[in-house]
Amino acid sequence: MSESGRPLAAQIALVTGASRGIGRAVAVELARRGAHVGINYRSNAELAQACLAEIEADGGSGELCPFDVSDVDAPADAIGAFAKSHGRLDVLVNNAGITIDGLLLRYKEDDWQKTLEVNLGGAFRCSRAAARPMARKRYGRIVNLSSVVASMGNAGQAAYAATKAGLEGMTKALSRELASREVTVNAVAPGFIDTEMTAQLPDEARAAYLAMIPLGRLGRAEEVASAVAFLCSPESSYVTGHVLAVNGGLYT
Ligand code: NAD
Repeated sequence: MSESGRPLAAQIALVTGASRGIGRAVAVELARRGAHVGINYRSNAELAQACLAEIEADGGSGELCPFDVSDVDAPADAIGAFAKSHGRLDVLVNNAGITIDGLLLRYKEDDWQKTLEVNLGGAFRCSRAAARPMARKRYGRIVNLSSVVASMGNAGQAAYAATKAGLEGMTKALSRELASREVTVNAVAPGFIDTEMTAQLPDEARAAYLAMIPLGRLGRAEEVASAVAFLCSPESSYVTGHVLAVNGGLYT
C-alpha cells in the first residue's frame, strides 16, 4: 500500500471507451483507488466530461483523452503524448468495444471489418503504444475486456465472439512477451452486464439468459470494475496471462 493509503496513488492509467458503461465504472474505480485516469472516448465528449466530473467530485483526478481506437495512428499518437506528459504509464484498460450482431448468412463484410478493427485492432494498437513506456519503467498492467461468449459462443455473434477469443489469445501471447519487463497482461471476461450494450437485447433473449445465470440477475458495471481494478493493482503482481470470469456463474 502506498503512503497515501490508496493502492493506485501516483499511478497513471488510461481506460479506452470510458464515457459510459463498464469503461466509465472502471475509470471511476481506478480514480477512487488513487490513479490519475485518462478517459478515452471517440465521439461523446459530453458523457466523457460527466465521467471526469464524477471522478473529481469524488476527490480524484483525471483528464479527457479523445481518440478512435480503430484508427491506425491515433492510439500511438495519443497514448504516447499522454504517457510523455506524465512521465509514465502504469495501467492500460482496453475496454472499448462494439457488437454488431447478425446471423452468418446475412452478415455484411463491412460489419465484420468494423468489429475486428475496434475490438481486436484497437486493443492491439493501444497495447503496442502502452508497452513502450511501461517497459521503460519496468512496471505495467494491461487489462483487456473480453466476454463470456469468447469461450461459450453465442448464435448471431460470430464476429464479436471471434474478436473476444482473439483478444484472449493476444492476452496470453503478450503476457509472455512482456513478462521480463514486469508488465502483466490479463483479461476480464464479463457475462451479461446491465449496460447500453445489453439494453439492445430483445426481451425474450434477456429472459432466456437470465434463466441460465445461477446468480439469477445481470451483473453491474461496478462488479466488473472491481475485478478489473484488482488486475490493475500492484497486489496482482504474480497474475499474468489470466482470464478472469465475472459472469454470475453463467459459464465456467
Ligand atoms: P458500451 O457500448 O456501453 O460501451 C463501450 C464504449 O466503447 C462506449 O463508450 C463506446 O463509445 C466506446 N467505443 C466504441 N468504439 C470505440 C472506438 N472506436 N474508439 C474509442 N471508443 C470506442 O459497452 P459496455 O457494455 O460498457 O462494454 C464495455 C466492454 O465490455 C466492451 O469491450 C464489451 O465488449 C465488453 N463486454 C460487455 C458485456 C456486457 O454485458 N455489457 C459483456 C461482456 C463483455
